[in-house]
Amino acid sequence: MSWRTASKAKWLASLPGVSEDEPLASRTSFGIGGPADFFVEMSRPQAIEELIEGCAERGIPYLLLGAGTNLLIADAGVDGLVLRVVNREHHVDGRQVRAGAGLKMMRLARIVADAGLRGFEFAIGVPGTVGGAVYQNAGCWGKELREVLVEVEGFMPSAGKKTWKPADLKFGYRTSALKEGALKGGLVVEATIQLERGDGEQAKALMAKLTRERGETQPIKTKNCGSVFKNPPGDSAGRLVQAAGLKGAREGSAVVSTMHGNFIVNEGGATAADVKVLIERIQAEVRRRFNIELETEVEMVGRFKG
Ligand SMILES: Cc1cc2nc3c(=O)[nH]c(=O)nc-3n(C[C@H](O)[C@H](O)[C@H](O)COP(=O)(O)OP(=O)(O)OC[C@H]3O[C@@H](n4cnc5c(N)ncnc54)[C@H](O)[C@@H]3O)c2cc1C
Repeated sequence: MSWRTASKAKWLASLPGVSEDEPLASRTSFGIGGPADFFVEMSRPQAIEELIEGCAERGIPYLLLGAGTNLLIADAGVDGLVLRVVNREHHVDGRQVRAGAGLKMMRLARIVADAGLRGFEFAIGVPGTVGGAVYQNAGCWGKELREVLVEVEGFMPSAGKKTWKPADLKFGYRTSALKEGALKGGLVVEATIQLERGDGEQAKALMAKLTRERGETQPIKTKNCGSVFKNPPGDSAGRLVQAAGLKGAREGSAVVSTMHGNFIVNEGGATAADVKVLIERIQAEVRRRFNIELETEVEMVGRFKG
């Protein structure tokens, strides 16, 4: 059933900065996706909180958007309001760093290195925002955000402002209580991380090396969503896709990267339907050959059919 009534649409349309039928493809790293019914970009935490509270009160669905680097948005678009969170302030206080949810993890990695802090180099591999990284417990090269996270300032409609400790967020491999649990619908406003004092120049040299090496093994310069599948316990999704002979498999303009089996690349003009069909083909073939279920890491949102 559609969320839409004339009064809800009128309320949204009356809000400053809100646009209707806003294309989302260019706001994702995949370059894929239909329009948001309504869209707004906001940086002031209080305004963001008031808006999602207003949506929740009226029964209007909302999707929080960061950098759009872990999303496959349906061709038919997204119900209700898509709210892009762009609060990017940051504050370094000794070994602790507070960062707004809209700040990119890669940018934060450079900021903390400049401040002579170590232990956040892994974040140079995560192109998303701090908010998306908390939601997903982002990680790279064997390290995850939860290992350096002290607390999160958040907001929950009808419950108000919250301070969540790592235990409240119930982190797992690429998941948290914000994604699948009691905190679903919650907003990450700001995260505090704690790092070690060290040589910032060494941190930068390590990040440059990691980035260089990654560029040699993953198609990071293409339109993609990072890892499509989670690694199953004790194995790697990329290895399984390759072993199933699916590197280079194609559906329309969506292609399994020949460089790395866990990446699907939009060669230009791929649809979400193409990507979804390709994902299902890979899952079926890996199941048939190895009896292993590949779970998606990329999140499919919006009006998918079936
Ligand atoms: C080339 C490439 C490489 C990648 N490598 C890695 C990697 O090594 N490790 C890794 O973990 N990921 C990786 N990713 C995936 C992605 O960068 C991470 O999952 C990232 O954490 C997503 O952040 P985002 O801001 O892009 O979130 P989005 O894609 O915009 O959103 C993802 C989810 O987070 C939620 N969300 C966003 N902001 C907030 C907020 N403020 N409060 C609450 N919920 C919010 C959204 O509602 C959505 O459900 C890669 C992606 C690409 C394109």
